Amino acid sequence: MGKVRILIIEDEDDILDLIHFNLVKAGYRVECASTGEEGYAMARDTNPDLVLLDLMLPGMDGTEVCQRMRRSPNTEKVPIIMLTAKGEEHDVIKGLELGADDYIPKPFSPQVLLARIQAVLRRQAKTDPDSSQNQPIRVHDLYIHPGRNKVEAAGENVELTYTEFQLLRLLAGRPGWVFTRSQIVDAIHGEGYAVTDRAVDVQVVGLRRKLGESGKYIETVRGVGYRFHEQE
Ligand code: CA
Repeated sequence: MGKVRILIIEDEDDILDLIHFNLVKAGYRVECASTGEEGYAMARDTNPDLVLLDLMLPGMDGTEVCQRMRRSPNTEKVPIIMLTAKGEEHDVIKGLELGADDYIPKPFSPQVLLARIQAVLRRQAKTDPDSSQNQPIRVHDLYIHPGRNKVEAAGENVELTYTEFQLLRLLAGRPGWVFTRSQIVDAIHGEGYAVTDRAVDVQVVGLRRKLGESGKYIETVRGVGYRFHEQE
């Protein structure tokens, strides 16, 4: 098996150099682009294993690169980690909704960068396109049985509403992935009523309470949404 290939799209030379240095040292094969246009063309033509995508780029910005990659058959499945600066929360949400897999706020340490890359590659490898929607989910001390609408936390039965159940199943089905509120709204269809962003927060509060000690696995990602704690 060849080296894992990572494409970095970043316009700031010193950040680009730092990432390049650390990724090469860690054994990755690295390619670099400094504009969105160039980065998108390279992603499309070279089919990397993962893309590190700066959001604030001259010309075509990061969210547009993300959107184009997701629309192109060559790149629709390539994992994307966004590199974001303070104050770009709005773009982070947009990027996640356009299909980016994760984001790392700047400044970040090489250790954090490498850990996040490994986590995304690991999750990508685990994603089984054929896995049935109705497979039981076992994560931490939770057992979720979608077919039977049944949840156990530490061996105890937990009574959830339909919406709480859908929410838990969504988050726990992909531990470690960040879901924005509107992604959650889209994924869980309330029975006969529209679920709003605010309602998602209310549902999370109720769900955490009912799960007791296990409620802690539903993590708030400030300014963005929610994530189920990834098992080590
Ligand atoms: Ca930039």
